[in-house]
Amino acid sequence: MAGSPTTTHCPYCSLQCGMTLTPREQGAGPVLEVTGADFPTNRGGLCEKGLSSAELLAHPDRLTTPLVRDRRDAAFRAATWDEALDRVATGLRDAQERYGPDAAGLFGGGGVTNEKAYQAGKFVRVALRSASIDYNGRFCMSSAANAGMRAFGIDRGMPFPLADIARADTVLLVGSNPADVMPPAMRWFAAGRERGAQHLVVDPRYTATAAAADVHLQPVPGTDLALANGLLHLAVKHRLVDTTYIAERTTGWAAVKRAVRQYWPDRVERITGVPVAIMERAVRLLAASRATMILSGRGAEQHAKGSDTALAWINLALALGLPGRPFSGWATMTGQGNGQGGREHGQKADQLPGYRSLADPAARAHVAGVWGVEPDELPQPGVSAYEMLDRLGTDGGVRALMVMASNIAVSAPNTAHVRERLRALDLLVVSDLFLSETAELADVVLPTTQWAEEDGTMTNVEGRVLRRRRAVDAPDGVRSDLAVLADLAARLGRGAHFDDDPRTVFDELRRAGAGGTADYAGITWERIEAERGVFWPCPAEDHEGTPRLFRDEPGDGAGRSSTQRYFPTPDGRARFHVVHHRDAAELPDAAYPYRLTTGRTRAHYQSGAQTRRTKALVDAEPEPAVEVHPDLAARLGVSDGGDLLLRTRRGQARMRARLTSTIRPDTVFAPFHWGGEQTINDLTNPALDPASRMPEFKVCAVALEAATKEDPTA
Ligand code: SF4
Repeated sequence: MAGSPTTTHCPYCSLQCGMTLTPREQGAGPVLEVTGADFPTNRGGLCEKGLSSAELLAHPDRLTTPLVRDRRDAAFRAATWDEALDRVATGLRDAQERYGPDAAGLFGGGGVTNEKAYQAGKFVRVALRSASIDYNGRFCMSSAANAGMRAFGIDRGMPFPLADIARADTVLLVGSNPADVMPPAMRWFAAGRERGAQHLVVDPRYTATAAAADVHLQPVPGTDLALANGLLHLAVKHRLVDTTYIAERTTGWAAVKRAVRQYWPDRVERITGVPVAIMERAVRLLAASRATMILSGRGAEQHAKGSDTALAWINLALALGLPGRPFSGWATMTGQGNGQGGREHGQKADQLPGYRSLADPAARAHVAGVWGVEPDELPQPGVSAYEMLDRLGTDGGVRALMVMASNIAVSAPNTAHVRERLRALDLLVVSDLFLSETAELADVVLPTTQWAEEDGTMTNVEGRVLRRRRAVDAPDGVRSDLAVLADLAARLGRGAHFDDDPRTVFDELRRAGAGGTADYAGITWERIEAERGVFWPCPAEDHEGTPRLFRDEPGDGAGRSSTQRYFPTPDGRARFHVVHHRDAAELPDAAYPYRLTTGRTRAHYQSGAQTRRTKALVDAEPEPAVEVHPDLAARLGVSDGGDLLLRTRRGQARMRARLTSTIRPDTVFAPFHWGGEQTINDLTNPALDPASRMPEFKVCAVALEAATKEDPTA
């Protein structure tokens, strides 16, 4: 007989759709039936990824025993947990004894629970006493996070609930395609349009999201910053800026106003390819209502100038008087399942729980007190994700690396180089559900639990803390990352500081983060259950949580004054920043004459380690395709469905061509969900943003040629 249903959330993207898992009768098919739950974000809707997620629970590829290699060139063999963990602990300790404390490190993931993210950061700082930790969220949200902190003093992707989108009169989406990557979110956009809202989309591709919008701006990849400055120039020219708002709630406007004088429309059209008439229409729509949102995504942010680009859009939002106003403001749409919570609790190289800075003596003292260690024992900030990967196995680099829930052999930029560096390690340990492309390179593979087998919390795209609930027992032989880290800490002599119970870890996380920017102190599992999630910051159990971050009216009703704190910055004001367009790190030239941009597709997710093993998703999208404009295809001599070779200065890939007039003729788009000869990140550029250390995933110069069967690949 089927058991009782469990409500939880989808294992994939940041929308964290509510779902109900019902045990099925024994027989063929998944052990759980998945149906959409009436949660405030998805209202019962699920996309094909969520609906098929239970396929992976009893998948034949599932790892259920630790694997070790006796030599790098030997095959894996099964091992006991004791043997595998002893080997890991010995390898970590050996590396540190030979090369120093920072020679042992951990690379984390933005899809893990808050408890695991917290435990990972603490494990590296307390058990290893190493500075070497960063995570794949550096490749995802770091530019928007950097911009949000600088402009508003806080980094919560959306400062308002998702449902507010339906109540905005104008919405501008920059470099984001929710119609494909988070379809249940589109209900809020559709509801807005039914009310008469105007929607604008900025994207080099005419995506499904753009097709549903009223205005499409189609810039050259890597020119969004110039476009934002150009729109602000027009807003100033047409006296559309909100001078009262600027005077009361912001600082730095005069310098930005001067700076955007040089972004006159003809110049911006030359840089971006967006016609002046469309820019004029866009800026008038944005200024026509007070309920206007500017939402950015990875298309704008994954650049070597991603932070400045996000700041340029924030400048426009501030000048129009949007942040803090009802159903208005700037927000960024997080991608990974716990892309928000994963960046708050200490997985970043420079960060302690609660979004505290590892370089701040007061923060170190507070967190060290909770952890029961001396502040001086904590390392200083380490290097960012790509910088860590780039130096693996070298002097001064990490020699023994643990990779937790991340498939960097497919998802990092310049992956051919990253795989080479992973092979240069003395010890590579990967914990995962499957033998991913990264796990295939490992010395030790640790099989871990997945979403429906574990309890914990996640923080969704809105900053709402949610409960992940266990619906089914994990297979024998599988352990949670919390237990793995606690067991390893014990082997390293620091076991007294660690626990493997998610609720105990969450309660400690609340104490460690209390008083920080991302304050979860008042969020209990009971409250999450009773209130269907709690928005941070929530500093006390009698605090209601914070669905909307920035205040519009004074809290005491006494009228606004110049001392009103609208934003959590030292002076209570949001900050404008002067930012200027600069070329992409790599421009087309005679050898590499086109632009390559990359992204996600509807049926697959991130590196594809899970979705490429899901029959329903493979049936829906069995292989990648590179989008090519018919005019470009004619020049290249490639037909629809024909193979195309893509080459950059870093590597090459081979994919089927999909001819479509929805993309610019000077640009091709390829998805990054596949490995092998279809690993598009072998081609991407690791040029880093100077502030966020975000690599330039979204644009590089590429050479294209029609491929024959004999053409070699990477
Ligand atoms: Fe899961 Fe995201 Fe799809 Fe919702 S939109 S079902 S969270 S993958």
